[in-house]
Amino acid sequence: MVKATLKKSHSRAVFPTPGHDHDRCASDAIAHAEATCLAHKEKLTPIRRRVLEALLASHAPLGAYELIDRLAEQGARPAPITIYRALDFLREQGLVHRIESRNAFIACAHNHESGDPVVFLICEKCGAVGEAASAAVAETIKSASRAAGFTPKTPVIEISGVCVNCKTA
Ligand SMILES: [Zn+2]
Ligand SMILES: [Zn+2]
Repeated sequence: MVKATLKKSHSRAVFPTPGHDHDRCASDAIAHAEATCLAHKEKLTPIRRRVLEALLASHAPLGAYELIDRLAEQGARPAPITIYRALDFLREQGLVHRIESRNAFIACAHNHESGDPVVFLICEKCGAVGEAASAAVAETIKSASRAAGFTPKTPVIEISGVCVNCKTA
């Protein structure tokens, strides 16, 4: 009998519990980013790291200008182009996602394969964003797209609602 082995990687609950060790959660994500960059022969430059750290400060997404404000608190105010370039890089590496409906960015809380469809669950109360990846959703989207003669790239679904923490609060 083959025992299913859980891929021990940077995995977290879809919505982290309010009392979770967030320092650990953020430092794990930085370690994952370093490993990812190393594997791709890319560099996590200081500005890329600072942008990622700012996004990792919470589980809620930040807009580009909010990010600039956060970084300005620690030193010189970065130019928007600098921030956008860093965000582009982090997105290419799968470390950051763009939440289209909020025009904002969030640090990836999963270790999913690039190209996997992601369902973003956006809490209207606390602003936290959870990520759920579902193979069944992927198949449904692919077959519906194929039936229309359409080739899907990276399907992204955004759902607004109330997260498990806010529901029980
Ligand atoms: Zn956390
Ligand atoms: Zn919430």
